[in-house]
Amino acid sequence: MEQNHSGKIALITGANKGIGYEVARQLGQAGVTVLVGARNTALGQSAAARLRAGGADATFLELDVTKPATVAAAADTIRQRHGRLDILVNNAGIAQKGDGPPSIADPDAVRRILEVNFFGVLAVTQAMLPLVRNSASGRIVMVSSGLGSLTWNADPASPFASVKLLGYNGSKAILNMMTVQLAWELRDTLIKVNTVNPGYTATDLNQNRGTQTVAEGAAETVRQALAPDDAPSGAFLETSGVAPW
Ligand code: NAP
Repeated sequence: MEQNHSGKIALITGANKGIGYEVARQLGQAGVTVLVGARNTALGQSAAARLRAGGADATFLELDVTKPATVAAAADTIRQRHGRLDILVNNAGIAQKGDGPPSIADPDAVRRILEVNFFGVLAVTQAMLPLVRNSASGRIVMVSSGLGSLTWNADPASPFASVKLLGYNGSKAILNMMTVQLAWELRDTLIKVNTVNPGYTATDLNQNRGTQTVAEGAAETVRQALAPDDAPSGAFLETSGVAPW
């Protein structure tokens, strides 16, 4: 049976473009009120305006995941306006020049990646968790990557075996660890915490070399954001099913 999602409130980080924007668009189409998290005000406002023009209930919310003041202010705004958060999509993420395999990766590049892809997610999740707990059935979705799979990193036959980026791949592996541990902490609640491999998707992150459209790249994240109460929690998922850790 088709679920009714209208009235739900979702925050998507890094929603001004790429997969995040498309997740916001699809959630908006499903009737969810979307808070368009973006670090750049002009880009965030323009994205929210385009989503509204497409019929979504969308509002820009300033959020740089590496700036604690914006994270705290965003949580305060959501608390005052809505009192709860039904869906948190931790989508914001970066790759960096200088990242590479362990023998040559620039430690500063690795650190910059972890600041956004891991510490940013940790800060946002900790700030939003009290609001997600106020939801009747909260959903937290991490936008991870197949590159975060230790199994695939260790498999010479994996299609991405040669992509050894300590910072980027490592940031997604620790995100997956966070997912498992947070799901365990929340096991006695209706909150689901899952991590998603979007697949190789054409966005600015890869100079649009990805082979999937953003609609395809956003699909599993949206599915998990709207998952029913009997859905799994603490899982690593992709469109075709379960991804290997
Ligand atoms: P993208 O088009 O480059 O979008 C990244 C988004 O993150 C942008 O909105 C960017 O904002 C935002 N962002 C970066 N740093 C931020 C910060 N400090 N605070 C808040 N927002 C920040 O890349 P994408 O491909 O859509 O990536 C979205 C997620 O999917 C990432 O987590 C990425 O690792 C993951 N992913 C992508 C692929 C793929 O093939 N594309 C595959 C697997 C996983 P600005 O516009 O201001 O820079």
